[in-house]
Amino acid sequence: MDKEQIWQAVLGEVEIGLSRVNFITWFKDTFISSFENDKIVIGVPSEFVKKWLENKFYKIIKSSLEKITGQKIVEIYYQVEFKKPEINKINTGEKKEVKLVERSEPIKTAETPSVNRFGLNSKYLFENFIVGKANELAHAACRAIINNPGKVYNPLFIYGGVGLGKTHLLQAIGNELSGHTSKILYTTSENFTNNYVQAVKTGHGKDFKNVYRNVDLLLIDDVQFMGGKDGTQEEFFHTFNELHQGNKQIVMTSDRPPKSIPAIENRLISRFESGMVVDVGKPDIETKMAILEKKAIEKGYLFDREILVYVANNIQNNIRELEGALNKIVAYHEFNNAAPSVKSVKEILSDLTIESRSKSISPKDIIEIVAKFYNISSKEITSDSRRQELVVPRQIAVYLIREELNTSYPTIGNELGGRDHTTAMHAYNKISEQKQKNERLNQEINSIKQLFYSSIY
Ligand code: ADP
Ligand code: MG
Repeated sequence: MDKEQIWQAVLGEVEIGLSRVNFITWFKDTFISSFENDKIVIGVPSEFVKKWLENKFYKIIKSSLEKITGQKIVEIYYQVEFKKPEINKINTGEKKEVKLVERSEPIKTAETPSVNRFGLNSKYLFENFIVGKANELAHAACRAIINNPGKVYNPLFIYGGVGLGKTHLLQAIGNELSGHTSKILYTTSENFTNNYVQAVKTGHGKDFKNVYRNVDLLLIDDVQFMGGKDGTQEEFFHTFNELHQGNKQIVMTSDRPPKSIPAIENRLISRFESGMVVDVGKPDIETKMAILEKKAIEKGYLFDREILVYVANNIQNNIRELEGALNKIVAYHEFNNAAPSVKSVKEILSDLTIESRSKSISPKDIIEIVAKFYNISSKEITSDSRRQELVVPRQIAVYLIREELNTSYPTIGNELGGRDHTTAMHAYNKISEQKQKNERLNQEINSIKQLFYSSIY
């Protein structure tokens, strides 16, 4: 058995005793880094996970390892390490593989003068695009195109919600290729539509065709806006075909997959789907932290980890909002000439976070997450039972509902199986107090909070 197989077998054992959520939280992105004689090093994605594995899962990991390898394990070390994403293994629905080919010769960057670059903004580059689970496939597909424009995925169709990096990726392709592809055109589908309508009106239809059908790289942003515009769709269909037949690369973005664009012709849908379709999703906590840290450094700020965790946990919707939060924080501290602290950051973001929180989680969600975390059921949390293993999670649920949602005590009592408001208040006070003294409890609460806003839910 190789390291990979051993670790898979260990995970198989560990998983049996854990809820799915717990398992994913602590064992995602772990692997055996090295294994020599009786000494083993486990790679983990963060300090936080490291602590948990050391403290909470030590026994089970050790015994599973011994069982599987049939030998005594004397030392287990945990080390924060990142395994390179195995891009080759990631499949799209169509089972096409994305291969990352290393470029042998660097492509010249955006500074190289080129008369025919149109619509590109040089601030969107691959260098400042942070890759995480939710966008790694889209990113890999874009990089693959850079190495082989017009040949690998043509067209590439990237879709996903607002503010998740679609325009950034699209522009980055343009900027990266502008050194050696002469004719690049970036435009939005709205612009395409307006230009087309205008051209037809003024009798310049031919010029329009000349421009769009003579590029080497066509980048079209937000194609969903072509829905319902028949003339534009017709024109785009022909533009598409001509470029495609000439092996010219086409990349498109949309806020939804091709089939979900309303009022769009079937023949266009089938063109959109004919190459590679990838999505970008909401970033996970780690990615948000990395993006924040990088953007903060660009602005000359070095945030404590605690601040990064706080902001990443509280800004949930997209990266544009994350940038907005950062700008707010920076503006406030520049103005007051003070260093950011968790306290000041909380204050600055308070209206923002309460609003976005209450939109997406409810007291019921919190109860469910707490229950899952402790391997019990929501029913047990809200039951009358005074069993110790239920009492603490119940109190933690109260604490978190109050803390996160600002819910009134009577309502909390009600949510928790019709308890009295004084019981809820007592539970809240008890946990607030113990959290100060008991580091383990504190950590548990923090990791539950991470679950609220992580992509697991
Ligand atoms: P979309 O086109 O999907 O609505 P954008 O590409 O405009 O989103 O992204 C919104 C903002 O977030 C931009 O300023 C962009 O640079 C930034 N951004 C998005 N994704 C990332 C990322 N992975 N790393 C760094 N910045 C990002
Ligand atoms: Mg966009």
